[in-house]
Amino acid sequence: MSTVGRRRIAVVGGGILGLTIALRLAGPDNEVTIIEAAPELGGLASPWEIDGLVWDRHYHVTLLSDAHTRGLLRELGLEHEMRWVETKTGYYAGGRLYPSSNTIEYLRLPLRMIDKLRIAATIIVVSRLDRWQRLEEIGLEKWLRRWSGRRALESFWRPQLRAKLGDSYREASAAFLWATVQRLYAARRSGLKKELFGYVPGGYAAILARCSEVLEGRGWRSAWTRRSRESSPEPTGWSYRSGTAEPPTSTTWW
Ligand SMILES: Cc1cc2nc3c(=O)[nH]c(=O)nc-3n(C[C@H](O)[C@H](O)[C@H](O)COP(=O)(O)OP(=O)(O)OC[C@H]3O[C@@H](n4cnc5c(N)ncnc54)[C@H](O)[C@@H]3O)c2cc1C
Repeated sequence: MSTVGRRRIAVVGGGILGLTIALRLAGPDNEVTIIEAAPELGGLASPWEIDGLVWDRHYHVTLLSDAHTRGLLRELGLEHEMRWVETKTGYYAGGRLYPSSNTIEYLRLPLRMIDKLRIAATIIVVSRLDRWQRLEEIGLEKWLRRWSGRRALESFWRPQLRAKLGDSYREASAAFLWATVQRLYAARRSGLKKELFGYVPGGYAAILARCSEVLEGRGWRSAWTRRSRESSPEPTGWSYRSGTAEPPTSTTWW
């Protein structure tokens, strides 16, 4: 594809957001380069291989209410391949897995009744908040301790937060819980009585491969770098100082 007269655009970060931006921009008018610090594309959605099985590094599902993700999959021609399965939830404690997919199973969990009631109240309260911006100023742990109590925080919330966010859960704000609960409630409002989780066969590896294929047809480029040190506006566009020891150390992109 000729580069004459085309705008040169750099997208820093080749996660799903960067790839989606590249998909939107790449084409006859724009020459798009994705600059990625990791050895492969995908960011948090990148796959890994265990014993020959390639699957998402982090557990990912798509809900019926995830309109943007489904829109992207549609654009990539993958939505019709999606498989939808009914969700089953479990609670693992003391070496045993307890089903917790409905109210009766939830009430049978090996937690004190008062803790179960406080956890349920916490979820109801957060689901009804519409001024979520204020939650960004409150630490998630602090907020959960206030609403669910110390015991429920330690036995119920903290193990889940650690599994999802690692030790970064300490830095997360209460808005994280708001967003998670809103997403699950929206999925339940989809009209179906049961909750369905969807995935593309092959997981995000298949989605990323398709993304690269579509981008290839639109004449994109990818550049691998260490994490950028700085980027700053310049009269002709933006300057991106790459973290690589090798040249180019600085490129002007527009
Ligand atoms: C455990 C877990 C489960 C999840 N489950 C779901 C789920 O079920 N459904 C769902 O929709 N979402 C889920 N998510 C969230 C989803 O993975 C993220 O929202 C999404 O992948 C973020 O994409 P992103 O492109 O914004 O950021 P990232 O994936 O973080 O990508 C950013 C990229 O930019 C690169 N980068 C950063 N700085 C620089 C720099 N200076 N120079 C060059 N490159 C740079 C990084 O290496 C990275 O590849 C989950 C996340 C986790 C951790």
